[in-house]
Amino acid sequence: MTTPPSGAPVLVLGCGPVGQTAALLLARWGLRVVVLDDRRERDLVGSKAICQQRDVLDVWDAVGAGAEVARRGVTWTTARTFHRTTELFSFRFVDRGQSPFPPFVNISQCVTEELLDERIAAEPLIEVRWGHRVTGMEQDSSDVTAVCATDEGPASVRGSYAVACPGARSDDLRTALGLTFGGQTFGDQFLICDIRTDLPGWETERRFYFDPEWNPGRQVLIHPCPDSTFRIDWQVPPDFDLAAEEASGGLDTRIRQVIGDRSYEIVWKSVYRFQSRVVDRMRVGRVLVAGDAAHLVSPFGARGLNSGVLDAENGAWKLAFVLRGWAPESLLDSYHAERHAAALENLDVTAATMRFLVPGTPEEARRRLDVLERAATDPAARAEVDSGRLAEPFWYVDSPLTTPDPRRPFPGRPARGDVPVPAPGVLTPDCPVSVPGRPDIVRLRQLAREGITVLIGDDATLPSLPETLPGELPVAVHRIRDLDAGSTLRDALGVRPDEVWVLRPDAHVAAVLTSAADVAPALARATGRPAPVPVPVPVPVPAELARKTPRA
Ligand SMILES: Cc1cc2nc3c(=O)[nH]c(=O)nc-3n(C[C@H](O)[C@H](O)[C@H](O)COP(=O)(O)OP(=O)(O)OC[C@H]3O[C@@H](n4cnc5c(N)ncnc54)[C@H](O)[C@@H]3O)c2cc1C
Repeated sequence: MTTPPSGAPVLVLGCGPVGQTAALLLARWGLRVVVLDDRRERDLVGSKAICQQRDVLDVWDAVGAGAEVARRGVTWTTARTFHRTTELFSFRFVDRGQSPFPPFVNISQCVTEELLDERIAAEPLIEVRWGHRVTGMEQDSSDVTAVCATDEGPASVRGSYAVACPGARSDDLRTALGLTFGGQTFGDQFLICDIRTDLPGWETERRFYFDPEWNPGRQVLIHPCPDSTFRIDWQVPPDFDLAAEEASGGLDTRIRQVIGDRSYEIVWKSVYRFQSRVVDRMRVGRVLVAGDAAHLVSPFGARGLNSGVLDAENGAWKLAFVLRGWAPESLLDSYHAERHAAALENLDVTAATMRFLVPGTPEEARRRLDVLERAATDPAARAEVDSGRLAEPFWYVDSPLTTPDPRRPFPGRPARGDVPVPAPGVLTPDCPVSVPGRPDIVRLRQLAREGITVLIGDDATLPSLPETLPGELPVAVHRIRDLDAGSTLRDALGVRPDEVWVLRPDAHVAAVLTSAADVAPALARATGRPAPVPVPVPVPVPAELARKTPRA
């Protein structure tokens, strides 16, 4: 990136994984960053998140950490679901492209945070100030100030904008920003034990058991982790007492019911009650709210940290575009539009899972038992079994930045393990590419993350970019055949020869166009400038674009 703009740094509040990611991505765009965290130093005790999704590894790859997180984690490709002793179904994850990353790796959040810290330490544009508890935010039309409590007394830190990622327990900051955090807390508790043991054959699968004889009427989830560690997650009654369970030997019995008579060591244990909440606004003037500070979901689906990282990426490129003068400040409104919609989708998906896992009424419990019993033989009932829909990127189909394509109507949430057919709003599949003059770029997503990318089909006319675009706006135009002489890229996108595709800096498709004249308005929309939306003309959907997948 070019020289950073002068002026105040961007503030990142909270050095958890979402704040770390935001800081690294902002620095990647050449911006100075000051990170403020309440803690005196990083305390690496226990692990919350373990399960990191492919597209999140890819975001971390942009800041030099993704490959190492993937290498240190355990790759798993299959999700298996059981009712009592019967396996109901299993599925593998689809990749419409050729990502270098597996669909999921399991790794301790502590290790992820350590790896991100290493990248931060190597980044001269980022300064981390531990021991700074942000207690208030003040802002005017030109900057924002974080009011902090420190051991040396109160301190004020000025910035141009702020990304607030202080996690779930930040009611004071949410209040200071005038945000509500509506939602609910679930009654049932969940007991998590990370145990080190030897379980041959379980190393590459996530297993979900409904009503196993060793936890009747409830469920147990088992995930493989690095270093021969397995996370076992039991649903336990609301009055469960971990200390009493340990003292009575009940915990040892529980663990042995799962792993049998083999030696084990408990690495971490905890009891959680889950919440489902979202703030009413994710942008408050010069402050973008991200991660657990903005939304909380139950971990069944691994959508917490995974979606927080995507908040960070969305906010970082938009702040960079505004601060570098490539886009108007109104681009930041789309941060709320896109990431709040993503949070609502996550709430919807995880709430449905929790209704199935923790039925609220005897009637719901009977329905669940009926579904589980039928699922042993009936594929339709299997589709109703909800053991958690795993994290996936949100599709910005209705975003103000997206130019709709009437020939590519969004078919809705794809089936379990599947990803949507590429279309405006959807995250593009990744593919190998070779970019003339850029031997360092070997994948489509790497290319996309350089700025705005315009891909031209074989027969499409080269668009002339308007002179009204801000001077240094990073727009790169490529013929698809120059990036890939074969058909991998064309096939992965489903691109037709007469089409022009516009990709955003987070690799989501902004537009698919058939007229070079529509490229400029699509670019304007993608960067938050008002542009007329093409009037949708009803057109027949070509067969190859109509690969609709059913809703899960
Ligand atoms: C049991 C469990 C399992 C989970 N499993 C998964 C999973 O598999 N996959 C997944 O994606 N997610 C999972 N999650 C969710 C995931 O752990 C969180 O979404 C993630 O930690 C959120 O990161 P964050 O950076 O937003 O917040 P945090 O990790 O909470 O970090 C917040 C940071 O802000 C600092 N801070 C707080 N207040 C202030 C303040 N006022 N001023 C300055 N600094 C402040 C804190 O010290 C901290 O460093 C799980 C959660 C739980 C509880």
